Amino acid sequence: MKTKVILLRYGEIFLKGRNKSYFEKLLIDNIKDKLQGIDCEFVRTQNRYYIENYDEKLTDEIVRRMKQVFGLHSLSIATKVKTDYDLLNEAALDYAPDVNTTFRITVNRADKSLDKNSAEIGADVGAYVLKHRKGYKVDLHRPKLEIKIDIREKGYSYVFCGSEECAQGMPVGCSGKGMLLLSGGFDSPVAGYRMARRGMQICAIHYHSFPYTSEQAKQKVVDLARILTQYAGNIKLFVVPFTQIQFAIHEKCRADYMITIMRRIMIDIAERVAESNNCGALITGESLGQVASQTLQSLTVTNDAVEKLPVFRPLIGMDKYEIMKTAEEIGTYKLSELPYQDCCTVFLPKNPVIKPSLEIAKKEQDKIDDLETLISDAINGIEVIDLKPER
Ligand code: ATP
Ligand code: MG
Repeated sequence: MKTKVILLRYGEIFLKGRNKSYFEKLLIDNIKDKLQGIDCEFVRTQNRYYIENYDEKLTDEIVRRMKQVFGLHSLSIATKVKTDYDLLNEAALDYAPDVNTTFRITVNRADKSLDKNSAEIGADVGAYVLKHRKGYKVDLHRPKLEIKIDIREKGYSYVFCGSEECAQGMPVGCSGKGMLLLSGGFDSPVAGYRMARRGMQICAIHYHSFPYTSEQAKQKVVDLARILTQYAGNIKLFVVPFTQIQFAIHEKCRADYMITIMRRIMIDIAERVAESNNCGALITGESLGQVASQTLQSLTVTNDAVEKLPVFRPLIGMDKYEIMKTAEEIGTYKLSELPYQDCCTVFLPKNPVIKPSLEIAKKEQDKIDDLETLISDAINGIEVIDLKPER
């Protein structure tokens, strides 16, 4: 009997402390969640996990899904055999391509009942490979090819070679919940991805200025959030009607401060919605100096509108190019590229202030005397969209 299995390794650092079992449970739950709809078995051994007994035609699909689980470090496609010396020889030989190379066999033996130790088994399997492959040479220190044999208890062994990188990070759910300010641009979806990778569960909030922004613009944000669910799991998306507030800003505030004030109100509303949904942080896609509203002074004035929650800006030190590259990798690029108008581009002043003063911003904002009412109306008008990962 010789079957393929998928071996999963988790990042080791965060699993070492006292909280190991908590992290591990989350990670296993997230893996099992991802495997929904695929008939397979999940096996846990000492330091790794195996996915077994699945239809081999589904290998690529399982690998694709596992690469979206934060907390997994790498994976390998392995061969599972009964622990029998002949079978181990054969399985190892399958991983030795027909080209000249240097190699070693590395054996890890949990089954102490065998009559040979790890080194002896390694030497025997190595001798078998040497006999069947021309131009092979053993190199224990810097081999080009390393075939690994993991001999488990209960009479089974796993044979594999090399590994593929997974998404790294921490299991989603271990770092609390964050409210992502999600626009239709390139940045904010990447920001959400980054924080989910540090273990945050994600809620998202989007400001929509219907009819000045189109139904398509909103749909684009829903679709972006849906892509994020592939990594972050379920996402609650709050769509806030923002038109009345934008009218008020336009009508009452200095043109060059419009964006500054809009940002302050956005983040204020985000904090209120975050708190009533148990989110412990706000997340934005801001990157220092990228546009006028993201200079140090602008960020300071925006930040002042937040009362308690920390604002995470995971892209703050990233270049646009790096952000776009990540967008490409996580699959949001093509959607973000669609040219629908965002509320920031409606009623836009030509020359927004680059170094706003907090004093002026507050004074201008105070000119909207019914702001509290407008904010409660906006919050009452929120449409909540529950998004789940599609399998
Ligand atoms: P993005 O690519 O995320 O749109 P951007 O470079 O266009 O970013 P801004 O438009 O200045 O930058 O927005 C900065 C941040 O403010 C965004 O990353 C996002 O977190 C938030 N934001 C902007 N517009 C909206 C919106 N309509 N709804 C929710 N959040 C928004
Ligand atoms: Mg934007």
